[in-house]
Amino acid sequence: MADHPRTLPLDLFGRNRGDLVDDDDVAAGMGPAINTAGLAGIFYRLTPNDLYRLRAAVTQADAAASLDALAGAVAPSSERLAAWLHRQPVGTSGASVAALLTTVINVLLTLYVVADEAAPPAQVAEVVDKARTGLLHEMPIPGRVSCFCGSGKRYKRCHGTAPR
Ligand SMILES: [Zn+2]
Repeated sequence: MADHPRTLPLDLFGRNRGDLVDDDDVAAGMGPAINTAGLAGIFYRLTPNDLYRLRAAVTQADAAASLDALAGAVAPSSERLAAWLHRQPVGTSGASVAALLTTVINVLLTLYVVADEAAPPAQVAEVVDKARTGLLHEMPIPGRVSCFCGSGKRYKRCHGTAPR
């Protein structure tokens, strides 16, 4: 881990803006809900180095905000993730998918730094599910740990605070 920064320098969204992929977005015309089936299994097989590479790829592709661009960017790190992106419903928002992936990647890297080992499958599934449903304040991150968003604040003082 020595060659990786211990803080996560990404903040694609403000605090507690966990409403990236919910039903209101669908109703507001932001496209169909993201189909997260299979996503946890893909992430469980990735090493921390894979995750760092993926995060860089997703960040760079984010500006294009198209699923095809995203799939092309992540393919060198994970063909399975690229295939997952191609399975998304037509009209799915690339920006929403990029935000979801970034959240999952950052939380998994935070958990890795805390535990010094990859998260077990059940925890990966929990992270994906809570990212999908916007429950960013219920992630299995200890409150004293730096928040996954890279703000530099402790998790409990940042995204770990329940929305009011
Ligand atoms: Zn945060």
